[in-house]
Amino acid sequence: MSIDVLGYAAHSPTADLQPYRFERRDTRTDDVVIEILYCGVCHSDIHNARNDWGRSVYPMVPGHEIIGRVQSVGRAVTRFKAGDRVGVGCMVDACQHCEPCLRGLEQYCAEGATYTYNGTDRHDHRPTHGGYSDKIVVSERFVLKIPDGLDLAGAAPLLCAGITTWSPLRHWQVGLGSRVAVVGLGGLGHMALKLAKALGAEVTLLTRSPGKEQDARRLGADRVVLSSDAGQMANVGGHFDLIIDTVPYVHDLNPYVPTLGIGGTLVLVGYLGPLDPFLNSAPLVMGRKSIAGSLIGGIPETQELLDFCGRHGITSDIELIRMQDINAAFGRMLESDVKYRFVIDMGSLKV
Ligand code: NAP
Ligand code: ZN
Repeated sequence: MSIDVLGYAAHSPTADLQPYRFERRDTRTDDVVIEILYCGVCHSDIHNARNDWGRSVYPMVPGHEIIGRVQSVGRAVTRFKAGDRVGVGCMVDACQHCEPCLRGLEQYCAEGATYTYNGTDRHDHRPTHGGYSDKIVVSERFVLKIPDGLDLAGAAPLLCAGITTWSPLRHWQVGLGSRVAVVGLGGLGHMALKLAKALGAEVTLLTRSPGKEQDARRLGADRVVLSSDAGQMANVGGHFDLIIDTVPYVHDLNPYVPTLGIGGTLVLVGYLGPLDPFLNSAPLVMGRKSIAGSLIGGIPETQELLDFCGRHGITSDIELIRMQDINAAFGRMLESDVKYRFVIDMGSLKV
């Protein structure tokens, strides 16, 4: 027996997303069946739906910022019961025995993590489908607890935008007095501002958009720098310990390197692919600076983030939309016209 589900799917890189009926697997003993209440809209959903990374399989139901309520659980499930508030992020499984998995870094699983959508289930080899749908079935090891008191719709983006910026903040040990810059004020960028500020850092937004200053300050930025203005960039020369770069498309990294202090790191979380123009290594060598990358975060680290947000009352700034509005939302995200995350109210699917 399987579970009938209604969602929205992409059927090709160019077609609009459309309603799509499909089946979820029947509950395995370790599974949690979740009624999806909200799902955030990540720029990765656009990259995947449009096959920007060349690995898309259709039909594809995107969505990996999932918030819901537990409907039922398999008989071996111990941590969840019907009615619990839960979240699911970018992964629904991993090998769970390699070194990264044993360290709680399932996103770097040596055998490859199973992604929430556009992936293949490791047991039944069927395609995985994401949160633009009314139900999902996930092994309890990949289900997160949502702290009481957090607004559920605002918590959805913590499952990807939040953890993707939290993981480098923690890895590079950002704390009181750290000097952090964030490149790009979108979904990831606005969470990076809030989280870095809450960790006690001095926070700067580097943006190409002059109109974002007031919002950036409200979200936690102590300083806003227009990245296209060489004079403003020179004013922050040698300043930052860590730069989190969230820009989704290829862009010139060379102007950012001089803003790093000695030993500083620019970590890419947005763009995946070859750099263009070339990166000049001389300023890296001369200042022991690093360019790094980082992928989402592991399950224990995601729970740590959710608990931190619960204690500090941090959620995403969202625009709640109907499922039917997803294609317009993709268009607006491509224009950087969202403050600062679209979240789909999955109740709209029933209408
Ligand atoms: P988003 O909401 O669309 O925000 C991206 C921001 O980058 C924009 O608001 C804009 O900020 C800036 N930007 C956009 N296009 C640009 C361009 N061509 N040149 C320079 N700046 C540009 O996107 P998001 O959801 O935050 O996702 C950002 C990227 O992270 C995507 O590529 C996504 O796939 C990736 N991602 C990676 C991971 C990971 O694990 N590493 C996880 C989730 C998402 P300003 O107007 O302020 O400049
Ligand atoms: Zn994402």
